[in-house]
Amino acid sequence: MSFEKALEVGRPPNIVKLFPNSKALLVSGKAVDRAMIAKGKAMTIAANGRSSFVIKGTLQAAQKANAAVIIEIAKSEGGAAAYCDVSLWNMARQVDAYCNELGITVPVAIHADHYGIKSDDDLEKAKVEIPSLFDAGITSIAIDASHRPDDENLLSNMEINSCVPQWAGYETEVGEIKGTQGLSTSEEALFLIQGLNAHGLHPDWIALNNGTTHGIEASDTGINVELTNEIHEALAPYKLSGAQHGTSGNNSDRLTRIAEETQTTKANVATALQMVSWGVKVNEFGNAILDDNGEFIKEEGKGVSEELWAEMVEYAQSKGIKGGDYKKLNLPFENKLLGQTAEVRERMCKAVEDFVYDLLVNVFNAKDTAPLAIEALVKANSYDLGSKAESIEDAAEWTEEKLRARASTIESDKGPEGDWDD
Ligand SMILES: [Zn+2]
Repeated sequence: MSFEKALEVGRPPNIVKLFPNSKALLVSGKAVDRAMIAKGKAMTIAANGRSSFVIKGTLQAAQKANAAVIIEIAKSEGGAAAYCDVSLWNMARQVDAYCNELGITVPVAIHADHYGIKSDDDLEKAKVEIPSLFDAGITSIAIDASHRPDDENLLSNMEINSCVPQWAGYETEVGEIKGTQGLSTSEEALFLIQGLNAHGLHPDWIALNNGTTHGIEASDTGINVELTNEIHEALAPYKLSGAQHGTSGNNSDRLTRIAEETQTTKANVATALQMVSWGVKVNEFGNAILDDNGEFIKEEGKGVSEELWAEMVEYAQSKGIKGGDYKKLNLPFENKLLGQTAEVRERMCKAVEDFVYDLLVNVFNAKDTAPLAIEALVKANSYDLGSKAESIEDAAEWTEEKLRARASTIESDKGPEGDWDD
């Protein structure tokens, strides 16, 4: 009964318009966040759907765990200069189709990960491109201007906000994900969030640089739980949840601590799911194990067929592609992967399902959160769950002039330049 009701009232207008006869419960990112908050000490996966196999496997795991989940793709992965076949414009269509095909009844949000704004030119382009993302079924977005100085980060979020529907999930970011360098501080995070609050903008999530890196984990330092908690506590009046990036490869104990000890409700996982779907050797945390030559170790009978893997390695070598850059094989090989036998395609999805199910149930505490998201939507009798916070900061104290002056007093180490994208 409540699933049907949620289907009726809980799907945002862009989803209803795109998929009028669908039985897939695609929802705002807010609904997923609220479900984790309702359960408490819980976070769910935001799976970067670098391939259709990752998307299908994640949906199957979510259904089995009865968990609300997020399927996402980053601008670098699926944007205008994509290296994946899954894009910001076809992701919702794929998720909706697979949900109907597989009989998925858990709520799923469609998130644009790291929608990077690195310049004024990007900002102008975003004003056209972001509305097109929502027209294509996006229901949640990460505005990532963390590459810019603090005042520009804040101003970019403010300027672009009118392009983001109020009902959508909204993630913002302070401090680019750079491992142990340029760690975020409470001062930086408060500057961004108080400035937004003063202008009536209330993000659902904040992403921090709390010690992880995207891709293959080189070191085991990983997530700094204490720093994450310190910043989340400083932000408590603004009712933000945390979005954990660079989850792949972090040990489960630390991930469980993040779910239990901080306000994190979303854990982005990209690289590990790609590797698991391909059938290369990974450690228990999904971190790829490289041989002495720095090459991946393909496990026979798992993931892609041996013949196709040989072709992938040959292609990579011909392009000088190594290690983490293997992610660039997603686009050229998606159709070849889809052209494999049903048995091979299914084992790729099943491997992702098993990996994600274990994370959801045994690490993230996301089991049985689907009914909590459905309950929130049915109770609101709407797809729009509104903001968690109210404006408590004075806009007069956050004029452009004053916020620029404030930003100039922030002492922070942004860490080294470079390509740290997903
Ligand atoms: Zn990220």
